[in-house]
Amino acid sequence: MKSSRIPGFYNMSVEQRRELLKNNHELTDEQMSSLTSNHPLSLDTANNMIENVVGTYELPLAMGLNFVINGKEYVVPMAIEEASVVASASHIAKIVRSAGGFEAESRERLMIGQIQVVGCSNFNEAKEAVLNQKDTLMRAADDAYPSIVKRGGGTRDLDVRILNDHEDSTYSQMLIMHIYVDTCDAMGANMINTMVEAIAPIVEEITNGKVYLRILSNYADRSLANAKCVIPPYLLATGDFTGEEVRDGVIHAYEFAASDPYRAVTHNKGIMNGIDPIVIATGNDWRAVEAGAHAYAAKDGQYGSMTTWSKDNEGNLVGEIELPMSVGIVGGATRVHPLAELSLSIMNIKSAAELAQVIVAVGLAQNLGALKALATDGIQKGHMALHSRSVAIAGGASGEMIDVIANKLIEQKEIRVGKAKELVEQYKQ
Ligand code: NDP
Repeated sequence: MKSSRIPGFYNMSVEQRRELLKNNHELTDEQMSSLTSNHPLSLDTANNMIENVVGTYELPLAMGLNFVINGKEYVVPMAIEEASVVASASHIAKIVRSAGGFEAESRERLMIGQIQVVGCSNFNEAKEAVLNQKDTLMRAADDAYPSIVKRGGGTRDLDVRILNDHEDSTYSQMLIMHIYVDTCDAMGANMINTMVEAIAPIVEEITNGKVYLRILSNYADRSLANAKCVIPPYLLATGDFTGEEVRDGVIHAYEFAASDPYRAVTHNKGIMNGIDPIVIATGNDWRAVEAGAHAYAAKDGQYGSMTTWSKDNEGNLVGEIELPMSVGIVGGATRVHPLAELSLSIMNIKSAAELAQVIVAVGLAQNLGALKALATDGIQKGHMALHSRSVAIAGGASGEMIDVIANKLIEQKEIRVGKAKELVEQYKQ
């Protein structure tokens, strides 16, 4: 197992970083060619993925370093346009690895399919009828996708609720049936949709109602992944701040997010800064993950923090995260986009559950990165320095000029596009 701690990676050239990845992860020539190609996703493949294609769209792909999760080293591919995210995740992962690394788990991985039934003459009787036919319906769902049963997955449970049951409801009464399916290593949206569409006629027959919607629920709260880290305060000390001060600042920052949706949204956006780049790099559906994560943050009735931060009896900072994580290592674009396949290979991911655990651990790291900066120097100092290259490019710098202009922006403490334009003009004279 190659270490994910790679000192000096930041200062290497892109070519040196690629060479190191190739050697450390034993990448094949084909995998390397998709990394070095200007168009890893061919127009032909793109044109077969979605409709009305006119080109492909690229993002920077970087490596999050230093991650140790459940004792395994991870170099984490992250596709993102925002500066400082990868540096911050790697910085926190380095601290956490000194504290023994992240612990992560996903106890259950069941995706949910919903069937909506309206117009039943007696909804309570219809509900009873569905429950009486539970085994038949679950078998019918499995019969609609036998290959997942052969792989060891399939329908695990079924339940049913009546919505808008009270007299003053402005909405129609309806019966909602859920099937819970183990989709193995796939995210499972298409599998679930196939299953619920197949059993809908049986549900109509049993309930004497009319079925309208038959679709996956992205509120994947039966597919949760958790991660935890425990950090002694001395590892958190930074600049003029003691470790205890940083720890307490992080806990206060969490308490702010837990009690105020205005803060919670930004707090959680920072967590998704860590999560989305891996979801994207591995070809997964980031809208599905985003939707499920934000809904889960509101599960207690008020939108709150996706993480918790507290102090244990020894004074250590304890961070925890739990989120629905509907991702796969097969299906969707995971095996279609060459860089998605490469990303999974670099992490040496063996199952969808393992990928989910890595993703939430990186989300937790990203959250601590933001809270640590916010509770100490503020985020602008580090962020703007890293952002200076993009500002220089936006101001018209190119080639060797980019570093010169970016350094001048940092020196003059004015990291603005207007200033970059001025400096570019001066440079050209
Ligand atoms: P697929 O339709 O690609 O199905 C997964 C495929 O992977 C199956 O056909 C299965 O083959 C194969 N497979 C190979 N190995 C395994 C394994 N170990 N475990 C499980 N399957 C395996 O993808 P999904 O059903 O996962 O659907 C994901 C896609 O659906 C995403 O692109 C998503 O964007 C999209 N989607 C999302 C929706 C939403 O979020 N609301 C709605 C609709 C679509 P075999 O047939 O041989 O079993």
